[in-house]
Amino acid sequence: MTTYFSAWQAVESRIQQALAANGRPTGSARLLAVSKTFPAEAVAEVYRYGQRSFGENYVQEMVDKAKLLNALDIEWHFIGPLQSNKTRPVAEVASWVHGIDRLKIAERLSVQRGNSLPPLNVCIQVNVSGESSKSGVSPEALFELAQQVVALPNLVLRGLMCIPEPTDDQAKLRSQFHLLAALRDALQQEGITLDTLSMGMSADLELAIAEGATWVRVGSAIFGARHYA
Ligand SMILES: *Cc1c(COP(=O)(O)O)cnc(C)c1O
Repeated sequence: MTTYFSAWQAVESRIQQALAANGRPTGSARLLAVSKTFPAEAVAEVYRYGQRSFGENYVQEMVDKAKLLNALDIEWHFIGPLQSNKTRPVAEVASWVHGIDRLKIAERLSVQRGNSLPPLNVCIQVNVSGESSKSGVSPEALFELAQQVVALPNLVLRGLMCIPEPTDDQAKLRSQFHLLAALRDALQQEGITLDTLSMGMSADLELAIAEGATWVRVGSAIFGARHYA
């Protein structure tokens, strides 16, 4: 059995150090362990260390792992792009959906969630880099979508999520994280209460925490390199 313990622990300490360096309280940013492409056994192993929140990008993969690990107290986060014909299993299995970028998806999730489960926590994904290939709503369209999502009965709009431009340019990354935080502040000014910024991955979690991240989504720094079939 592979052990991920030292890698997981190193990520946890990077998070706590970044929080301390920015004068933020311990625990104010949390680790979402991104387990996509890794087997259920890997998730179960990291669960043994105390990790409870896991992120998945592919609907069927999340559903399969959730079924296999049904006995464990795992909180599943769906972080991938979501097509409207695949919302139902996500509405039934996930506790969080990070990548909401259109009303139709949010409406379907709300209906399919129903009111027998706790409300589904969602974040709106914002295209902070302006790349045309990127999913996410534009900053200009954010306020209207946020108002519409807030009105849906079985969802709770918790905050915003972004995936910055793939670059090593620290200043550029940081300015894109800063933009997400500024958009969160602007929504709060309009009376939309948000407590979540989902931003930062293996390579840039310190920059994201400096800008206020509350979930960092970390895969390869815990589980190693991904190999796609
Ligand atoms: C894969 C993925 C991650 C994790 O990326 P790493 O670089 O492996 O930490 C985070 N967020 C999203 C949306 C992803 O798809």
